[in-house]
Amino acid sequence: MSLGRQVEEVFTGSRVLSAIPDYTIRQEQIDMANSVSDLVELGGISVLEAGTGVGKSFAYLVPAVLSEQACVISTATLTLQDQLINRDIPTVGRILGEKIDAAVLKGRSNYLCRRKWQQWGTMVAPELLEWAATGDGDISQVEGKLDQDQRRRISADGLDCLAGRCSEMHHCHYYTARNKARKARILVVNHHLLLCGLESGDLIPEAWFLVVDEAHNLDSAASASLGYSISEPLLNNVFDSIILSSISVERKTALLDKTRSLSALVANLVGSAGNEGEVDLNSILPQLADIADYASSFRFEISGEEDLSGASQTLQNLEKSVLALVQIDQRNWCCYTEVSRKHPVLHCVPVHPGALLRETLYSSFPAVLLTSATLAAGTSFTYSDSRLGVPREAERLIFPSPFDYARQSVLVLPEGIGAHNDHQSLAETAWSIAREAAGILGGRTMILFTSYRNMELCCETAEKFPLNGIPLLVQGKMNRSSILEKFRENPRGIILGTASFWEGVDLPGELLQALVIDRIPFPSPGHPLTKARMAALEDQGKSSFTGLMLPEAATRLKQGTGRLIRSGTDIGAVFILDTRLRTAGYASMLLAAMPPFRRETLQGAMRFLKEQGCSS
Ligand code: SF4
Repeated sequence: MSLGRQVEEVFTGSRVLSAIPDYTIRQEQIDMANSVSDLVELGGISVLEAGTGVGKSFAYLVPAVLSEQACVISTATLTLQDQLINRDIPTVGRILGEKIDAAVLKGRSNYLCRRKWQQWGTMVAPELLEWAATGDGDISQVEGKLDQDQRRRISADGLDCLAGRCSEMHHCHYYTARNKARKARILVVNHHLLLCGLESGDLIPEAWFLVVDEAHNLDSAASASLGYSISEPLLNNVFDSIILSSISVERKTALLDKTRSLSALVANLVGSAGNEGEVDLNSILPQLADIADYASSFRFEISGEEDLSGASQTLQNLEKSVLALVQIDQRNWCCYTEVSRKHPVLHCVPVHPGALLRETLYSSFPAVLLTSATLAAGTSFTYSDSRLGVPREAERLIFPSPFDYARQSVLVLPEGIGAHNDHQSLAETAWSIAREAAGILGGRTMILFTSYRNMELCCETAEKFPLNGIPLLVQGKMNRSSILEKFRENPRGIILGTASFWEGVDLPGELLQALVIDRIPFPSPGHPLTKARMAALEDQGKSSFTGLMLPEAATRLKQGTGRLIRSGTDIGAVFILDTRLRTAGYASMLLAAMPPFRRETLQGAMRFLKEQGCSS
């Protein structure tokens, strides 16, 4: 029997119902699974967009398991990794009546480093003593108990890992997970590991089938993985190694002075490169050379000292990154500085990682699936093709969401409101609408902003005109996971969020029923990487607006509005306050990219929320 036939029997037969009693047959899922079956049997590359609710993970897992081929699945987020390994793969195992040989490999920093733990773990995090003595060292198990600094001090890190020279190597949590991963038939990794692993050649096992889920993030992962970042905090490991070593006090003092000097050189480099903007590498070449020389002689001075081997490894990695910057072809790379966690960082990333993905990633697996809920802009894959370097011969298909958006949801583009660039007026309108909706719903509302400035203005307005009994959960005042956890426990609240809330937020059922969006999420034209990409398009005689800004905004808008309806029974309203969606020539393209909500007036939408019996 062909793979397609076997897969179809699984989705339409009784086995799926015995494993998932509330399973409903979705033609879109069966169609996607059939398409994946052909891909696995024949090889090639497919780009499959699957709308929310299609059930794409089962649609690729079932053919992957039935084919008996080795498979690597890559995701952008830890959430999806955990969902696949803890929920979806075991469920597919129950459906098929077999135990699936699967493993997960997380990024190195997600594991406890046994060497660091032995050196200073009990000083840094004594409360973890019991946990550190047992288990697989997966730090997510103790996530809430550690602050960032504690975590950095005890987690494995490629910058200071001693690998073969480490006395803990044969019990190492990270290397144990790597060995297990190498033998598994289905391996779940993240995009960063996938790309670094292919480059190093020793992380990703040979496999027939590669699934890249959340593929819309693959190019940014490629830029980060293939690029270089230099900042002062890189030297924290050197300071730690010296402070906690058993060398004499005089030597410690001398080496700490040396580390401070190197740290000052790095700070100087990043500072002289300018605060948040593009960097001309030619102007900083002499400083790069100085840092490489200093790191090299420092490393030489402490070489062979077991206690300082972590410091030595960090210095070697810093030297390598600096030398790589000296040698890159500046025409295809973008160098810029930005402030991250209060420290300026010098980044150097490829402008178009798509070509690198084509050459190094897609060619390494006979069958490649790129999938996500947001790959096409309308019905066109042109933009994701260029970002992800998809070859011309690839198959491209869209499997629409099975949800009845016109019945379940309404979209409001309010009339008579301020212009998109009148920030104060926009913030007041956002609060007034969110306040009214949250009053009807008893919270269950989220406002997505395109900038911190708009969010802060809205917060100020909300403080002047609060909605009694409905607290605000504001990004920046709390971290993202605490906000979501709190909201899941008690949705009587209004979330105010920016960038990271536009995707990956899953608040199904009655949790989230009103969504307010301040503006069309065009990328910032001032960001150096956006500028470099715009310039590259214009050099080819193409419009950077239609070739980059518009499709990027369409993708982002699809992601943002996709937060509202998460299941076939969800009900809700989305309000977008950018008047350009009513007036601009490109508005129809953006509206077509969103889920097919029913258009309503502001009053009509509030009535809809009341009439549908939305919770209050
Ligand atoms: S091998 Fe690397 S990560 Fe593992 S314990 Fe040693 S230093 Fe830490």
